[in-house]
Amino acid sequence: MPASRKDPSPARPNPWDVARQQLDEVAALMSLDPNIHRFLREPKRALSVAVPVKMDAGELRVFVGHRVQHSVARGPSKGGIRFHPDVTLDEVKALAMWMTWKCAVVNIPYGGAKGGIACNPDEMSAAEIERMTRRYASEILPIIGPEVDIPAPDVGTGPREMAWIMDTYSMNKGYPVLGVVTGKPVNIGGSLGRNEATARGVVFAILRAADRLRLPVAGKTVVIQGFGNAGSFAAKFLAEQGARVIAVSDSRGGIHDGKGLDPEEVRKHKAETGSVVGFKGADRVTNEELLEVPCDLLVPAALEGAITERNAAKVKCRILAEAANGPTTPEADKILEENGVFVIPDILANAGGVTVSYFEWVQGLQSFFWTEDEVNARLRAVMERAFDAVYARKEERKCSMRHAAYMVGVGRVAEATRTRGVYP
Ligand code: GLU
Repeated sequence: MPASRKDPSPARPNPWDVARQQLDEVAALMSLDPNIHRFLREPKRALSVAVPVKMDAGELRVFVGHRVQHSVARGPSKGGIRFHPDVTLDEVKALAMWMTWKCAVVNIPYGGAKGGIACNPDEMSAAEIERMTRRYASEILPIIGPEVDIPAPDVGTGPREMAWIMDTYSMNKGYPVLGVVTGKPVNIGGSLGRNEATARGVVFAILRAADRLRLPVAGKTVVIQGFGNAGSFAAKFLAEQGARVIAVSDSRGGIHDGKGLDPEEVRKHKAETGSVVGFKGADRVTNEELLEVPCDLLVPAALEGAITERNAAKVKCRILAEAANGPTTPEADKILEENGVFVIPDILANAGGVTVSYFEWVQGLQSFFWTEDEVNARLRAVMERAFDAVYARKEERKCSMRHAAYMVGVGRVAEATRTRGVYP
């Protein structure tokens, strides 16, 4: 690219810098033992792999993939696999660290991990994606397993990819291994309710916050950035609670209708056309503008770095519920705090996904499956207990919800590390 050509969008903050800064801030606040702090600043293990794929047209392409395990202090590591053009090792390291804190906040017996391949699945055929997924699975096979590290879906992956990973792993072992991935299709050991779990968890957390703030959700306005798995189900569930979803977006742009959008109709439009853009009767907005639409509830459900010091002052909502991982930078956090925005941080808000992943893993290990009502009731109990623990810490320490969630999460991981000791 010629040096004179400018990137139209300012560079995204490096997620790994953000994740470490968040840890450093809370380490100071909670006077974390500096030895443990040093330990927690590094991922336990990071594996980068080349993923050669025969494309349909005959060409061989080589994608780069990663799997990072941040911590196994509290149990096997757990976290999704992302297929997206912007995947980097630093991003995967950040996402793995956030998984560690998230699993600890909801108190499930896992450490944190994440994986990803830098690729654009929207431009690949299903057969190419299958070959890429299976080759990646076999490259990371030595470091995953039901007792070691358990992948799951993330941006750009879903039940279909999990089925291929489960099959690749099982074929190599010689017997079916249900517990190696979660987020599988229900007919091969997936859990009822897993697909909707991230959004359901977000809504349980919002309802708890609404209760504390005496701000009933019914009749409130909602803006959602990102209309993938988490965003589209969050729109549906919030509408079911009587809220009015006035704007949503995806990577191609956003739509706005002050009278309210029907999430089900928007979902159908996206399924037919590939985007929410062009939905009839709605005005078009950019992703930038969308985050500035005045509303009661704002749900970033896309990627990291959506709310930075550049736009945080323009965010006009009462509750910000982070369905995405890492959508807000520490600088933006300070501005939101000053403006009285109640933030439900990612490691609490979106923990419903990994919580039902845990339920799926437990069901698979026992070959004993629960009803959807059982799954949802247990999820609600976990989310409410976690919310209450974080809220209590916030009140006790007079700090932000993010710092409180970090104190709960980091505190539990530090405790486990201290109890186990450092080997040898
Ligand atoms: N990728 C999801 C997350 O960021 C789910 C991880 C899992 O279920 O293991 O929480």
